[in-house]
Amino acid sequence: MRNALLPSFAVQAKGLSLYLFVTLVFSASALAQTQITSGTIQGTVLDANGAAVPGANVEVRNPETNFVRNVSTDDEGRFVALQLPTGRYTVTVSKQGFATLVVEKADPGVSFGAPEKKLGIKGSPTRAVILEDVPVPASRMIGEPGTGFRTALATLDHTRITIAAQAIGIAQGALDYAAGYVKQRSQFGRAIAEFQGVQFMLADMAMKLEAARQLTYHAAALSEQAMSGHKAPGLTFASSAAKCFASDMAMAITTDAVQLLGGYGYVRDFPVERMMRDAKITQIYEGTNQIQRVVMARQLLA
Ligand SMILES: Cc1cc2nc3c(=O)[nH]c(=O)nc-3n(C[C@H](O)[C@H](O)[C@H](O)COP(=O)(O)OP(=O)(O)OC[C@H]3O[C@@H](n4cnc5c(N)ncnc54)[C@H](O)[C@@H]3O)c2cc1C
Repeated sequence: MRNALLPSFAVQAKGLSLYLFVTLVFSASALAQTQITSGTIQGTVLDANGAAVPGANVEVRNPETNFVRNVSTDDEGRFVALQLPTGRYTVTVSKQGFATLVVEKADPGVSFGAPEKKLGIKGSPTRAVILEDVPVPASRMIGEPGTGFRTALATLDHTRITIAAQAIGIAQGALDYAAGYVKQRSQFGRAIAEFQGVQFMLADMAMKLEAARQLTYHAAALSEQAMSGHKAPGLTFASSAAKCFASDMAMAITTDAVQLLGGYGYVRDFPVERMMRDAKITQIYEGTNQIQRVVMARQLLA
């Protein structure tokens, strides 16, 4: 087997900058490391047979200043040029995935896109976060390099439950409003709450809501178990199931609430049309409900 890394440097002066053209050769079984000096670096990651390795993660780290930059290679194994301040750097190549880094709002290179114009959740502003050459100290890396994707997936097991809870809150609001309205509104000489067709709709709404709530409590209990260091088998399935079921349920309940208010359900003087628009996002973010079904099926078939 070849060495973990066989670097070959071609150094050329260009203007005032020193360009180090780096070819990083690594074996797939080991983390590759080499030392370079400051300047601008660019290169291609090659495997032991000299073939380009797309999707490799290149980390450039100055151990003295804790300055870290990460870049992934393109389809031909190339990584973009990096401007490095003075110092000596370690370049690490891995094919193991991303690193998770904490980036702060005040960091240089962090900016935000224009506020999005949305269907719902207008009380919660949504903007793209733009990161341009943001230097991040190594002390802000969560876990080891290459574990970022695993960290992100594990985080979703917990955060998806919060979307289930959000969906339940929206649905409960819509049910409460609709239940109050049907007792007040009269048609054909009586309150519409007296019509069995209306009662059955309310019963179905409350039944779905309670089922979603119990599933969410179950997922939340597993999440707490995992957070306190105990094994929580079934957490991934339960959190996806809670998010998916509660959000589908919230969409159905808020739509039925609009229906129960008739024409008034459709106008902005009453709150249920907003709840219907707000419910929609819970089926989309933190992974769409199609993706939740992919996650659940994978758990079942594993
Ligand atoms: C208001 C708002 C706030 C957001 N906040 C955040 C945030 O804070 N952080 C963050 O990271 N993201 C955030 N997002 C992004 C959100 O998580 C994504 O939009 C969402 O996960 C869906 O991804 P996508 O838009 O790329 O859809 P796509 O992946 O393009 O999906 C489009 C359609 O294809 C379907 N689809 C895709 N793949 C499959 C598959 N394998 N099988 C079946 N169907 C599939 C989807 O279900 C969907 O119906 C936010 C989005 C919005 C609208």
